[in-house]
Amino acid sequence: MEYTPPLTHRAAAQLGVSVEKFTNWRWQMRHQCQTLDDLQGYLALSPTEQQGLTESQALFRTGVTPYYAALIAQTDPALQEALRLQVIPRKEEAFDALGIYDPLSEVDHSPVREVVHVYPDRVAFCVAMLCPVYCRYCYRKRRDEETGLHYNRQIIDRGIAYIASQPSIRDVLITGGDPLIASDAAVEELLQRLRAIPHVEIIRIHTRTPVALPYRITNELVEMIQRYHPVWVNTHFNSALELTPEAGEALERLVNHGIPVGNQSVFLRGVNDTVEKMHDLCRSLVRFRVRPYYLFHPHLVAGTAHLRPSVQTGLAVMKGLRGKLSGLAIPTYVLDTPSGKVPLQHNHMLGQDEQDLLLEDLHGEIWREKGVW
Ligand code: SF4
Repeated sequence: MEYTPPLTHRAAAQLGVSVEKFTNWRWQMRHQCQTLDDLQGYLALSPTEQQGLTESQALFRTGVTPYYAALIAQTDPALQEALRLQVIPRKEEAFDALGIYDPLSEVDHSPVREVVHVYPDRVAFCVAMLCPVYCRYCYRKRRDEETGLHYNRQIIDRGIAYIASQPSIRDVLITGGDPLIASDAAVEELLQRLRAIPHVEIIRIHTRTPVALPYRITNELVEMIQRYHPVWVNTHFNSALELTPEAGEALERLVNHGIPVGNQSVFLRGVNDTVEKMHDLCRSLVRFRVRPYYLFHPHLVAGTAHLRPSVQTGLAVMKGLRGKLSGLAIPTYVLDTPSGKVPLQHNHMLGQDEQDLLLEDLHGEIWREKGVW
């Protein structure tokens, strides 16, 4: 008999559906929880979540796959907050005096509507408007109304024409929304068209499906993707709790087909804002052969003030990881700005004393490196 990971097995049994149905990604999307009533089928909701679900409806859509809802429900209640905060709106979402809707000024950096061109050699190509979960901190909330433009033919034609017209572009990040919420045929056509542009060397796909909809990473999908190498995948785990056996299978399938996988996390209060939580996340990712790539400090996105830790906390967490993890497992902590990513780093170089370098070592002690520098 085929092995079914425990989360899937229990969730399917509780819902009274077959494992085959529960693991079908289209079934998951058709049954995405979008309302208070939908979510209450899986979880007891706190008063602030209930208020958040009611008051944020008009501000940013809600959507949680049955898989991710079951993951929350099956997690130790003492730890659930790290998952709930990411996808279930809180009442605070409706009250945020500072927040804005386009913190990276993407609109100003879009020569055609769906292509964001900040760096000379690479672009983000936003083809998708649907996601398996709607992350409460998403910086593309402004496009909430545009679900009708998901894999829109006109948009794709226009984006491809722009990329083809710019020989400096050698790296295309396919993003959205989540570009893997589409048929294999639609994804393949896009890859084919990008591969036909001689100056496009690298294609990257940014997807949260391994986290929130791991059943999307099928053998058929990865076999198709590998025909268009070099293709990289960036995914988006924020908590070690998300690295379930199901997610592990999806990641293994990608990596085993020669698709390098990197992870971009967002630094979030109550989710991963301690050394211990970040350490567990990064260590777990590397065990699954996923490279922790960036840790983004969250933007001033409307409705996210309650999720934003301070930069000082971020620097302290990053400092705490040094010495506890190999460099391979430590992401670069950055603030993305309209003119590109800026690394946020604790400075270990204290200065220079005549010919010696004065450094702060991992224990916070001063180390004098002798020599001519
Ligand atoms: S999956 Fe990505 S694009 Fe979709 S809501 Fe989350 S962060 Fe935004």
